[in-house]
Amino acid sequence: MSLLKIKLHWQILIALVVAVFLGYLFGDQVKYIAWMGDIFLRLLKMIIIPLIFSSIVSGVTSMGSGKNLGRLGLKTLFYYMVTSLFAILTGLVMVNLIKPGVGVDMGLTANTGTFEAHESHISDIFVRMIPENIFQSLVNGDILSIIFFAILFGFFINAAKTKYQQTLTNFFDSAFDVMMQMTMFIIRFTPLGILGIVAKEVARNAEQLTSLAGSMAIYMLTVILALSIHAFITLPVIVKVVGRAHPFRHLKNMISPLLTAFSTSSSSATLPLTIEAVEKDSGVSNKITSFTLPLGATINMDGTALYECVAAMFIAQVYGIDLSFSQQMLVVVTALMASIGAAGIPMAGLVMITIILSAVNLPLEGVGLILAVDRILDMYRTSVNVWSDSCGAVIIAKSEGEKTLV
Ligand code: ASP
Repeated sequence: MSLLKIKLHWQILIALVVAVFLGYLFGDQVKYIAWMGDIFLRLLKMIIIPLIFSSIVSGVTSMGSGKNLGRLGLKTLFYYMVTSLFAILTGLVMVNLIKPGVGVDMGLTANTGTFEAHESHISDIFVRMIPENIFQSLVNGDILSIIFFAILFGFFINAAKTKYQQTLTNFFDSAFDVMMQMTMFIIRFTPLGILGIVAKEVARNAEQLTSLAGSMAIYMLTVILALSIHAFITLPVIVKVVGRAHPFRHLKNMISPLLTAFSTSSSSATLPLTIEAVEKDSGVSNKITSFTLPLGATINMDGTALYECVAAMFIAQVYGIDLSFSQQMLVVVTALMASIGAAGIPMAGLVMITIILSAVNLPLEGVGLILAVDRILDMYRTSVNVWSDSCGAVIIAKSEGEKTLV
C-alpha cells in the first residue's frame, strides 16, 4: 500500500471521529460544514453513470469471445446467490436464537408513521432490466438497465467488423481511462466529504441516538452480530478456501471504500472507490472488476439480504406471530429477491422489506418499528454489501488464473 493510501485511511478515520463530535455538540450549526458532504456526494454521483458505462463496455470488449463472457457471468451470479443465501441463513439463525422481538413492548401505534407500501413484484425486477429507452435509463440513472445495455453493446462491438471494432474498443478504453483519472481526483477529497456527511447525519439523529438506547438495542445487536459473522467469518473463509487468497490482506486494502460505504450508506456512490481499491491495491484486472463490481453494487447485497430477513422475523416476533418453517423459507427467498431488487442507495432496503411482509402476511405497519434505527444499520449493511462485492471480484479473478496482490 502506498503512503498516500495510508494517509487517506487515517484522514478518513479522523474525519469520522471529528464529524460525530461536531454533529453531536453543534446540532444545526453543522450546516457550515455539511455543504462539503453535499458537494462530495454530487461529485460521486456525477461520475457513476459514465464510469459504469465505459467500465462495462471496455471490460466486456477486453474479454473477447462470447464463451468467455458466459462463463464469467455464470460464475459471478453463482457467487452472488450463494453468499447472499449464506448471509440470510446467518441472520435467520441469529434472530431465532436471540429472539429480539419476543416480549418487547414498544408502543406499536406510536411511531408507525406514514410509510407507503411498495407494490413491486419480484418477476418485474427481471423484466425491468431491459430498458424501453436506453437514453431515458441513462437520464434516470436506472443502473440495472444501463448494465444490461452496456453488456450487450460491448458484446456486439466484439462481433462487429475489425475496423469498427478497433475504433469503438479504443474509444471506450480511452473514455474509461479518463473516468478513472477523474475518480482518483475526486477520491482525494473523501475525508472532507465524510466530515460533512457524517456531521449532518449525527446532528439530525442526535435525539433518537439517545432515546433509542434501550428498547431497540437488542434488535440492533442481533443485526450487527449476524452481519459481523458474515463479514469476518463466512466471507473470509470463502476467500481463503475457494479463492486461495488472503482475506485480511484484502480487507486492509478495502478500508477506504468500506468506510465510505459506511458513511454514505450507498454501494453505488462507493463504487468508484471500490473499483479503485480492488484494482490498484488488491491487483484484480480491469477485465474482472469492470464486470463484477458495477453488477455487484446493484444486485449483490449480502448485508441487505441478511437485514431484510432479521427485520421481518423481528416484526413477526413483536406482533407475536409464529412463523412456520415453510413461512420462514419464504422469508429467505423473498429476502434474496428483495436484496437483488434494492438499489444501491441509502435506505433502499427499508422499502423492499414491505415485499417480504406482504409475502408472509405480516402487518405492513411493522415497518414503523424499524424505521428509527434503519439509517444506522444501513451504514453497516452497506459496508458488508461492498465487502462481499470485492471478495467476489478477488475469488473470480483467482478462478480465472489471475495473479492478484492478495
Ligand atoms: N444502502 C444499501 C446499499 O446501498 C442498500 C440498503 O438499503 O440496504 O447497499
